[in-house]
Amino acid sequence: MASTMIGKQAVVIGAGMAGLTAAGALADRFDQVVVLERDTLPSEPAYRAGTPQARHVHALLLSGQRALSELFPGFEQDLARAGAVPLRAGLDVRIERQGYHPFPQRDLGWISYAVSRPTIERAVRARVEGRANTTLRQRCRVQEVLASPDGEAITGVRYDNEDGASETIAADLVVDASGRGALTLALLQSIGRPLPEETSIGIDLGYATCVFVIPDDAPADWKGVMTFGQAPHDSRGGLMLPLEGNRWMATIGGRHGDVPSGDAEGFLTYASALRTPTIYNAISRARRLDGVARYGFPESVRRHFERLNVFPRGLLPIGDAICRFNPVYGQGMTVAALEACLLGRLLERLAGDGDPIAGLAPAFFDEVQALIETPWSVAILDFVFPDTRGQRPADFETTLRFGIALTRLAAEDPAVHKLTAEVQNLLKPRSVYRDPKLVERVLAKMAEA
Ligand SMILES: Cc1cc2nc3c(=O)[nH]c(=O)nc-3n(C[C@H](O)[C@H](O)[C@H](O)COP(=O)(O)OP(=O)(O)OC[C@H]3O[C@@H](n4cnc5c(N)ncnc54)[C@H](O)[C@@H]3O)c2cc1C
Repeated sequence: MASTMIGKQAVVIGAGMAGLTAAGALADRFDQVVVLERDTLPSEPAYRAGTPQARHVHALLLSGQRALSELFPGFEQDLARAGAVPLRAGLDVRIERQGYHPFPQRDLGWISYAVSRPTIERAVRARVEGRANTTLRQRCRVQEVLASPDGEAITGVRYDNEDGASETIAADLVVDASGRGALTLALLQSIGRPLPEETSIGIDLGYATCVFVIPDDAPADWKGVMTFGQAPHDSRGGLMLPLEGNRWMATIGGRHGDVPSGDAEGFLTYASALRTPTIYNAISRARRLDGVARYGFPESVRRHFERLNVFPRGLLPIGDAICRFNPVYGQGMTVAALEACLLGRLLERLAGDGDPIAGLAPAFFDEVQALIETPWSVAILDFVFPDTRGQRPADFETTLRFGIALTRLAAEDPAVHKLTAEVQNLLKPRSVYRDPKLVERVLAKMAEA
C-alpha cells in the first residue's frame, strides 16, 4: 500500500458533494486526508447554511449514482436504507413537454433513487468518516491557499478554526471544492498568474420549493412529475419528486423575472399557471410541511483551467469551482462524483511517476473536458429563450430542430427513448446522436415537420 502513496497530506476545502467525493478518491493515495468545512455538520440529514441549494429538488442521475457506488461500494444500498424512493426510469416520472402530456411512459430498465439532498450528502459523509485516515473538521473556514514564495507550489492553507483562531495546515495537495472557487482565483491573483477564461450563459433562473406530505389518494400512475414550459414564450416549469419519509418536494420556477414569490399563496398561484395542472392538482390538496425556499441562479459558468499554460503544483479546483451547470438539468452532483472518479484514476495512473502531484492538475484539466462536454452542451440549449445572455452558437436553430425531431422519434421508438435517457443521465456522450443511421432517421423526421 505504502508504495502507492503519493503524498503525506491532502487538504480538501468544503464538505459538499465535490469535496466529500474527492476525499473518497484521495484516501487511498495520501497518508492523511483532512476536509475543512466552514459549516457545523449535522449528525442527521438536515439543511445547512453553506449549501442553500439543498432545500431544492436534487435529482441524482444514474451515472452519478453509479459513480458514487464506484467510490463507495454498496452506496445504492445506503440510499435505499435511508428511505430513498426507487423510481423505474422512463416509467415512474411523468414528463410533460410540448406536444406530449405525458411523454410515453416506458420502463427503460434501470432504477434511480429519489431522495433529499441532505440525505444523499449525509450518506456520502458517513462513508468518508468511515475512512481511518480521513478527518472532517467542521466550523473551519479556509481564508487562504498558501504557496511557496515563488508561487510555483502550494504548501497548505490558512483557516479560522472553530474557536475563531487562525491556523495553518500543510498539504502536498489542496483540493478546492468550495463551490465558488474564490480561493483558487484569489491565490492565482496573489501570485500574479492569469485567471482562467470563463464562458457564461445568463439564465436568471428563479426557483421556489415546498415540501408536502404525500396524500393517501395521490395519483397511482406516477411518483414524480416534470412539467416544461412552452419555449421560447413560457419559461415556467416544475419538478416534483418523492423524498424519504412519504414526502413530495415540488420545485417550480422560471427565468428573467418570471419567478415565483416566496409565500405559500404565491407558490400555489404560480403552480396553477404552469402549462399543465398536474403539479397544482396534486399539491393543492396536500399538506405543506414547511415554508417556501427560494434560490436565484443567474448563470451557468465554465472556467477554462485547461487553457492556462501554468498552474501551481499541488492545487486542484473541482466540482462547481470548475463548472456550475443550470440546476434544471440535475447534473452538478453527478459531474462532481464523476470528477472524483477521474481524480482516483489519475492518482492511480500517476502514482509511479517521479512527481505525480506536478502532473495531476494538467492531466485533470485535460481529461475533465470529456466529462463536462455533454452536460455543458445541454446548458447551451438555454439559448432557446431569447433573453439568455452569452454566445449563442451559430447553428443553434438547426440544433433545436434536430432536438425536436429526436424527441418525436424517441416518443415513437423505445430504443431511441432509451438512448436519449442515457444521454440525459450522462451514461453516454451526446456525440452518440451523430451516429449516421440515427441522423438519417432524425433528418427524415425534420423533413416531415
Ligand atoms: C438550486 C439548485 C438546484 C440543484 N439541483 C441539482 C440537482 O437536481 N441535481 C444535481 O446533481 N445537482 C443539482 N445542483 C448542483 C449541486 O448542488 C452542485 O453542483 C453539487 O452539489 C456540487 O457542488 P460543490 O460541492 O462543488 O459545491 P457546494 O455544494 O457549493 O459545496 C461547497 C462546500 O464548501 C463549503 N465552503 C465554501 N467556502 C468554504 C471555505 N472558505 N472554507 C471551508 N468550507 C467552505 C460550503 O459550506 C459547502 O459545504 C443544484 C444546484 C442548485 C443551485
